[in-house]
Amino acid sequence: MIFAHGPSGYLLGRIAGRKLPGVPLWPAVLGAYAPDFDVPYFALFGPPVADHHYWSPLHWPLFWAALAIPLLIWARARGPRATTASLIFLAGVILHFCLDTMTWYIHWGAPFTMVGFKLSDPTTVHRPWPWNFLTHWTMGLEASICLAAVWLRVTLDGRLLPARWGARRLRAWMRARRSGGAFGRATA
Ligand SMILES: [Zn+2]
Repeated sequence: MIFAHGPSGYLLGRIAGRKLPGVPLWPAVLGAYAPDFDVPYFALFGPPVADHHYWSPLHWPLFWAALAIPLLIWARARGPRATTASLIFLAGVILHFCLDTMTWYIHWGAPFTMVGFKLSDPTTVHRPWPWNFLTHWTMGLEASICLAAVWLRVTLDGRLLPARWGARRLRAWMRARRSGGAFGRATA
């Protein structure tokens, strides 16, 4: 998966929030992104980002399983809200691995065995790799997850972006109009 991690975390957070009112959305979204926090390091220092599932512990499910133990002990000491948030965060991480397994190798037994597992292979056609992914059927799944998240956000909250963003930009635009300056310059 490339685009759907954040939206999938949003959907997870919303579903969890229905069962557990008052639980914030951010642990689910953060968890759904968390394994990809290794991407900037690989982009800057290598090896190639395409190999990060193999080399990076952040993309090894057993690394997160080991991390879950101290995280849950810490959360338990902080109270039920922290425990719930931590469990939803970890569910987001698992969701990330399930979605990655749709199209990329995930080494579920790493570091003990580096055998990779994936459900489909968009790279079998020899074209520039982004094009292979963009034309593969799994892109329909990604688009569906993204659209479902947008639909849920707009339906439940009546807006797509946080309210403060819109208000801030509107105030900046009005300030720029009053002062006769350019909008871009006023918001910079
Ligand atoms: Zn990933």
